[in-house]
Amino acid sequence: MAPTSGHKAMQKALQGWYRHSHRDLPWRHTRDPYAIWVSEIMLQQTRVAAVVEKYEQFLQRFPTVKALAAAHLDDVLTVWSGLGYYRRARSLHQASQVVMHHLHGKFPTNQAGWRQLPGIGRYTSAAIASIAFNEAVAVVDGNVERVIERLCGERHEGEPLWDRANELLAAQHPGDWNQAMMELGATVCLPKQPQCLLCPLHGWCKTRGATEPQPQAKRKRAELWYAIHAQEDRVLLVQRAVDHSLMAEMWELPSIPAQKEVEPVHRLRHSITDTDYAVFVLRGRARKPVGKWVTHQEAHQLALTGLTRKILRLHFGREQA
Ligand code: SF4
Repeated sequence: MAPTSGHKAMQKALQGWYRHSHRDLPWRHTRDPYAIWVSEIMLQQTRVAAVVEKYEQFLQRFPTVKALAAAHLDDVLTVWSGLGYYRRARSLHQASQVVMHHLHGKFPTNQAGWRQLPGIGRYTSAAIASIAFNEAVAVVDGNVERVIERLCGERHEGEPLWDRANELLAAQHPGDWNQAMMELGATVCLPKQPQCLLCPLHGWCKTRGATEPQPQAKRKRAELWYAIHAQEDRVLLVQRAVDHSLMAEMWELPSIPAQKEVEPVHRLRHSITDTDYAVFVLRGRARKPVGKWVTHQEAHQLALTGLTRKILRLHFGREQA
């Protein structure tokens, strides 16, 4: 779509707002494709605050794609621990090896090329290509979808939604435009209470927040039961199976059946995706428990599940974890 003068004014308004109002996040200070790639993978389904901390640790430990490709997967999972969705870390590691071994260490320079790499879909490839290589391709995530729906006053899905996003795109500065749309959705055009009076697109918006809020998905509840075998500063851990569909090969406490009559040593809450878990940790009673004994300092060098890390911190004291 050729931009009209109204369309251009709208683009200018959003870009001006973004320049002055965006959150100062570490990956916004770089155009390095590797760093942007890492941030985009981490940001999938993870809160920005959790990513900020891990992003810097990850880049310190694996500062280049070469360093990541040469690393052992266990080390990558250890640094990733706490972010969840470990399949992302495996794919990132695998893709780094494809870049080093099949692309001679050179990154693809467009969306189509990035999309060939493991773990990179349409959204991530468009984000990296537009931010790091200035390719004029729009991104659509949940925030962008909501902004477009409210702005245009109609709901699009699938291909028509991507088409609409590409029509709106400011092709001269696609990376900034994409980030501005996502930032607007994350900070102003909020799911429940859009802040329309603060919105740079207010003058062009067809709905100004008058759409029905989307029903929130109902969260599930479940219980998890674990045994903790601890002797002084040592603890027994077990490794999840290599073919486990979730968090394969990560380390955790042995899980046990529910035992309502026993008083737990620890009770805590933990959320994973759409489920809130009540977690009960009982003192281990097995005579010859199967697993690996490690000191709790050694435990934190392993690829622990996020929940296990939380329990060990609780058990051994926050200051030592
Ligand atoms: S005016 Fe309101 S509804 Fe429209 S894009 Fe801005 S925040 Fe969203």
